[in-house]
Amino acid sequence: MTIPFIDSHAHLNLMPPDSPPAQTLERAKRSGLVALVNVGTDLERSRESVRLSETLSGVFATVGLHPGDADQWSPEIAQEFLSMAGRDRVVAIGETGLDFSYDAPSREIQELSFEKHVRLAKERDLPLVIHCRDAFERVFSILKTHSLPSRPGVFHCFTGSWEEARKALDLGFYLSFSGIVTFKNAEYLRDVSRRAPSDRMMVETDCPYLAPVPFRGKTNEPAYLPETIGVIAHERQENPGTLSETLIANTRTLFALPESA
Ligand SMILES: [Zn+2]
Ligand SMILES: [Zn+2]
Repeated sequence: MTIPFIDSHAHLNLMPPDSPPAQTLERAKRSGLVALVNVGTDLERSRESVRLSETLSGVFATVGLHPGDADQWSPEIAQEFLSMAGRDRVVAIGETGLDFSYDAPSREIQELSFEKHVRLAKERDLPLVIHCRDAFERVFSILKTHSLPSRPGVFHCFTGSWEEARKALDLGFYLSFSGIVTFKNAEYLRDVSRRAPSDRMMVETDCPYLAPVPFRGKTNEPAYLPETIGVIAHERQENPGTLSETLIANTRTLFALPESA
């Protein structure tokens, strides 16, 4: 059975040469994909995201610097992001955030870039796509000391505890679950997916990374997302089709996607 779904976080432009964006998207559409948010990670990849969103139907874009590329931040880049963020198909700022599993860029540089992105999101009133690893405390304190956009955003590829999930939800954020929720050792995350409020959840591939079971170890692609939805539906004792409709509605709301997409 094919269920409709939205991939809330993908990197079609990072797929290997044998899976070009248009073909990967076609395969996903045959598997039920109705829309996809392609996420920028640095300046060039943000430009690519915008190009994809303006050439492939059902694709939307975000622009921003991944914490691993935070040292690229400059006033010129800020100007270009601000201008790209005004385009119709650009629906969020990110991925930004903090990843303290990296030694470089330094924490100071990552925090500076993250704060600039929060201000940019507020200025354009676009939601934030947050990448947070080993850094929840700092991410929360930065978010609490800034004014946030009217739709604050999403913690993408959420891998925190239920306590951290609660804090993100209290700040008005959504939680997006990736293929990690299907991994054998991720019982804690399945627990979070059971407890999460149904109006604040989304799903994503983060492709080409993090393929769900039974594709683990392969290049991930949006066509595999129904596996992740199936596991969450099982955990929540919901019908996968009904759950997916809820996830689609949530994703449309957060990113203000048009109904036709
Ligand atoms: Zn990420
Ligand atoms: Zn990503």
